[in-house]
Amino acid sequence: MTHESIAILGVRVSNVDVPQSLAIIESLIESGTPHQLVTVNTEFVMAAQKDAEFKAIINAAALALPDGVGLLWAARFLGHPLKERVTGVDTVQRVAELAAHKGYRLFLLGAAEGVADLCARRLSTNYPHLQIAGTYSGSPAVEEEDEIVALVRKARPDVLFVAYGAPQQDKWIARNLERLRVPLAMGVGGAFDFIAGVAVRAPRWMQQLGLEWLHRLYHEPWRWRRMLALPKFVGLVILRKLGDNVRH
Ligand code: UDP
Repeated sequence: MTHESIAILGVRVSNVDVPQSLAIIESLIESGTPHQLVTVNTEFVMAAQKDAEFKAIINAAALALPDGVGLLWAARFLGHPLKERVTGVDTVQRVAELAAHKGYRLFLLGAAEGVADLCARRLSTNYPHLQIAGTYSGSPAVEEEDEIVALVRKARPDVLFVAYGAPQQDKWIARNLERLRVPLAMGVGGAFDFIAGVAVRAPRWMQQLGLEWLHRLYHEPWRWRRMLALPKFVGLVILRKLGDNVRH
């Protein structure tokens, strides 16, 4: 299933709304061959400016969800608006609902010890027919890779969620995608923490005002350095537009 993408500072973002994202995800799972899904935000775009491997992974992914309000602003500012924000954490829950209907099996990999398991139990409560193929914490360390890949292959899931934080989780998936033999592998960042209730998501009104980052910063102040990506991102997008205007 094809879809339109736009480029923001050279990084591809799929221009999809929620129903379209789910239709694409279903077709990727049904295809039976391995695909990678990434959830792009401004931190991804900024990291990709200095990390060619990460940039190539995002640009080659089957679906690059527009997670993060900064991207929506930038897209509109650059004259190619995105349809809407499609977050990783909401997508995990929607995919769980889809999986419960269709009989797809999920594997939850990553996060702190016990969190993936707790998340799986929450999802199973919300979607009673959901089949969990397995959960495992582990780490993205290279020494553990063969063992984790073997574990996932044995469980034969249709969907693999990986919560090792970006860009490690996305590089881990890219390195192992073919041998994992999972139709859909998705990096999910802190999604298990939110669903398990280990971390608290911003109230809906803050999400709607595009202030989820502020809520996260308040609860996890150590993120301030990473969040400096946002003003730098805004500066680069403005420069890009000025550059484009001079060229035209
Ligand atoms: N994480 C992990 N192992 C690691 C690094 C991170 O299991 O070596 C987990 C961490 O516990 C959290 C998730 O990765 O559940 C995502 O981390 P973070 O919130 O920093 O990611 P982001 O959402 O910012 O990409």
